[in-house]
Amino acid sequence: MAKIKLLSRELIDQIAAGEVVVNAAGAIKELIENSLDANSKNITIETRGGGKSSIRIVDDGCGIEQSDIPLVFVRNATSKIADDLSAIETLGFRGEALASISFVSHITLTTKTAEDVVGTKVLVEKNEVVQSEAAACRVGTIIEITDLFYNTPARLKYLKKDSAETAAIIDLVGYMALSRPDVRFSLICDGREIFSTDGKSDVLNTAAKIYGRNKITGLMKCEIADEPLFVSGYITSSAYSDDRSALKLIYINSRYVKSEPLSQAVEQVYKELFAKNGAGYILYIRLPAEMLDVNIHPAKLEVKLYNASLITMLIKQGIRSVLREEFIIKDSSPKKLAAEDSAFGNDEYVAQVFETAEKYFVGQPDKPTDELTEPAEATDSEPITFLPENEPPSAPTPEIPSAQSAQNSGGTLKIDSRGILLRLAQMKYIGNAFSQYALIECGSELYAMDIHAAHERVLYDKFLKDYQNRRIALQPLMVPVVISPGGTLYARALAMREELGSLGFEVDDFGGNAIAVRSIPAELSGGNVEQIVLGLLNALERKTAEDIGRRSERLIKEACHHAVRGEADINEAQVRALLTALYDTDMPFTCPHGRTILGRLDLKYFMKAFDRI
Ligand code: ADP
Ligand code: MG
Repeated sequence: MAKIKLLSRELIDQIAAGEVVVNAAGAIKELIENSLDANSKNITIETRGGGKSSIRIVDDGCGIEQSDIPLVFVRNATSKIADDLSAIETLGFRGEALASISFVSHITLTTKTAEDVVGTKVLVEKNEVVQSEAAACRVGTIIEITDLFYNTPARLKYLKKDSAETAAIIDLVGYMALSRPDVRFSLICDGREIFSTDGKSDVLNTAAKIYGRNKITGLMKCEIADEPLFVSGYITSSAYSDDRSALKLIYINSRYVKSEPLSQAVEQVYKELFAKNGAGYILYIRLPAEMLDVNIHPAKLEVKLYNASLITMLIKQGIRSVLREEFIIKDSSPKKLAAEDSAFGNDEYVAQVFETAEKYFVGQPDKPTDELTEPAEATDSEPITFLPENEPPSAPTPEIPSAQSAQNSGGTLKIDSRGILLRLAQMKYIGNAFSQYALIECGSELYAMDIHAAHERVLYDKFLKDYQNRRIALQPLMVPVVISPGGTLYARALAMREELGSLGFEVDDFGGNAIAVRSIPAELSGGNVEQIVLGLLNALERKTAEDIGRRSERLIKEACHHAVRGEADINEAQVRALLTALYDTDMPFTCPHGRTILGRLDLKYFMKAFDRI
């Protein structure tokens, strides 16, 4: 190996310059940061040839005092001295940007402070002012850079085509402009104005000016104040959570940053709630300076969060509650929501909450439940259905009381709500309450699934499809089940043998007012045969004006209802499988009779009840 030698000063400077500025956009980032640190209210950025030919930044900031001008280009000279790196409030702090840029380009700087009578214009080459003259100009600073990387051919070669470099500049200036909606930015590339913002502090308008109106559709306000975290900004409302080209911007203490943990935290909430990946967000996060290290990346694009897990937790919590608020405001069933809304502030309600477990869950309390608890009771009456006579059974609108219901319009509502089922299938299963409800914790919500109703829905969908496709598999009974249904039903059973057969039930006359059931549909084999058949016989009464399709649906519904068994001892794996199976059904949120399958109880209910909020 050769002898160890010190690198020449020139080489050291070139290496350092390469770290701070990798391309024109990198240089522009540093220059805009300087303009912002100088309290500018108007910043104009002009570039030519992807920034390689020229970059010109005009600001109306405080300007640079004449005696300071030579120092601007000296490495590690800065006016933003922070004795403590943990207390940095400015965007710049290392005093190396202009030194670096001056090393790889030709710079002209024109500047004037409010105290100066006349401005100063200097030419700079490699850290040194080579020419200086008085110049007529306004208060502020103009920096012009030409021939970027002229003396570092390797770096120059590495740069992309002008158009690609221009694209990078547009991206960068967009991020920066949106970091400060209170500052007017104007970007002109090759003589063409790309965008200009109005500096009126309106985030959405600023975003629209930079990215176009369609990029702000579906964004809603998001404010989080949870010591030590403060966030203000915008997030995608649930109805728009599937837009993959959504804006995803995070600013911490006015600095645009790429933060994996934070962006993941936001996306996770959307995935959890909507099983979607398209969340958009423009978040302005404020954190105490000592909670982050901005000095871990040469271009200051990444920051290190101390206690990242706390911050991400607070962000998630905050976003969840914002989305929940949205649900309360926008749900398509205002009656229920009005009741739910006022319930939060109503102590009487909180007391009621403890009365019965069912009341915990926002369901459909006014629907009769006796049929479910007394499945064996066979009467001649019409089975209870909750559907209007003239509508197909899949018609009821899902009323899942969850954040997903935020959408007003029918189409997206169904699809988005459905996602929660797959999500729940992976969340924390707590157990079964009252042998009837499977409890699953998901984020700050507790879901309850009516096991019987869920089962019934899955069974019904499967059985109906098999019937319509004439594919009902028969399960022969080794020992026929003999039933004595009583005079009328016995007669009906024999009269309707064929129809029963088409549903998979083979029955024979057993003599003495009894029938023998020889086979049942395999799908229903878990159920009590006698109860299923009795239920069916009750439902078999021919109704005038009932079309065939509706009749078979009604019969199948009845058969399924009595076929559901074993909800009391359903185990975790079965609950998860049931949730997944529900996902594939036509209408996962109501049983074939229209009863609610899934209920939700918000953490707020508990917190309110236990005096925490
Ligand atoms: P840093 O921003 O880390 O201090 P720079 O090399 O970017 O280092 O800038 C060096 C110094 O030049 C700054 O500290 C600031 O005093 C001055 N300066 C640079 N650009 C401007 C500007 N647009 N307006 C006012 N002062 C500026
Ligand atoms: Mg700087």
